[in-house]
Amino acid sequence: MRFQALFLMIWACLSFGVSLGQTAPACSQCAEWNRPQKPFRIFGNTYYVGPHGLSSVLVTSSSGHVLIDGDLPESAAAIASNVRALGFRLEDVKLIVNSHVHFDHAGGIAKLQRLSGALVVASPWSAAVLRHGGVGKSDPQYGAVRPIAAVKNVQELHDGQSFRVGGEIVISAHLTPGHTPGGTSWAWQSCEDRVCRQIVFADSLSPVSAKGFRFTQSRTYPNALDDFEKSFSFLEATPCDILITTHPENSGLWDHLQAREQGASDALIDSGACRQLAQQGRESLRERIAGEENAAVKTK
Ligand SMILES: [Zn+2]
Repeated sequence: MRFQALFLMIWACLSFGVSLGQTAPACSQCAEWNRPQKPFRIFGNTYYVGPHGLSSVLVTSSSGHVLIDGDLPESAAAIASNVRALGFRLEDVKLIVNSHVHFDHAGGIAKLQRLSGALVVASPWSAAVLRHGGVGKSDPQYGAVRPIAAVKNVQELHDGQSFRVGGEIVISAHLTPGHTPGGTSWAWQSCEDRVCRQIVFADSLSPVSAKGFRFTQSRTYPNALDDFEKSFSFLEATPCDILITTHPENSGLWDHLQAREQGASDALIDSGACRQLAQQGRESLRERIAGEENAAVKTK
């Protein structure tokens, strides 16, 4: 099931490469990704506020919240109304963070920042793209994905940095590059009925690119393979009770939610989920490398 979802996502991303041009690449999946989703509590002070096909997570406290990912530009209004539907004020979002700066995860950040007045923090590579807008030149999907709107008031973070919000939230940033050079995963603890769980919002790990890009031999992104390895190692080692992925079905969120609604109260908890995600990522990368090597042999 997870593989099917991953395959569909990769296919969808690759299809952007086919429709390249000077105009914005087509996005056949956007309407499906942006399907409305009723917001819900994931665990403790952590809530799902994104549309059905793109995760956006709100971590709340009595004096300030954190929002992870803004999804598509057209998702921003839905995310804002989901936050309000849960009884929270958008103006209380003090920090907006991001997985990676593709239009389907960062496209809504500019608007959400305007609505909330929140600070945006990002890895140095992602911060540069957010400040200028567009697509980073060393992005494997450069030329094949839609540009993002520029974001004001972006501060750079470093690997392992923790952010304290509202005195109660401590959320840490972990650089997990590869899908983009600036990819970042997020980890924090949420408690419910005196039980605390480690939650990880993992960035995409799929080796997807524009036509002609090679992860095995790229002038614009020469460290791509080492970066992926670093990201897999992080996910294999980090404490992880609940995994949320940028595309929610990749961590089985909807199946787990359904099971929880049917009475399996711990259905979202799986301490092996991050390791499994790393394993899937390794497998996809191995296939991608084999494909690139085969193509290189054929052209010789
Ligand atoms: Zn992406």
